[in-house]
Amino acid sequence: MDNCIFCMILNGEIPSEKVYEDELCVAFKDIEPLAPTHFLVIPRTHVSGASEIGPEMEPVVGHIFGVIAKLAKELGFADGYRVVTNCGADAGQTVPHLHFHVLAGKQLGSFN
Ligand code: AMP
Ligand code: ZN
Repeated sequence: MDNCIFCMILNGEIPSEKVYEDELCVAFKDIEPLAPTHFLVIPRTHVSGASEIGPEMEPVVGHIFGVIAKLAKELGFADGYRVVTNCGADAGQTVPHLHFHVLAGKQLGSFN
């Protein structure tokens, strides 16, 4: 997808600090971390956000949650982490490519 910064990260046009990648998804550190551990996991397929997840993306989303569980053990934040996806303007979504924030490494506050 042209002009999508996360697609540009996927094809190497924009650098990123990758923490994981496989055939379905890529995980990289957020440039404005909100916690000691803060990375994003994105599907390799461009989907604008959670509201556009259809049947073809459901296995990919499940896979992403499995990857996050594996990374939690491997990277040492299995004691607690938060997975967030902002969908749409009211939720504060700024990048229209489906992404899951993974936050850990501190006591995370409540949110609304
Ligand atoms: P959201 O506001 O939920 O759409 O989240 C977008 C996230 O992408 C924000 O936390 C940004 O800090 C992060 N972000 C934007 N550009 C980049 C980039 N080039 N590399 C890493 N993270 C980015
Ligand atoms: Zn994209």
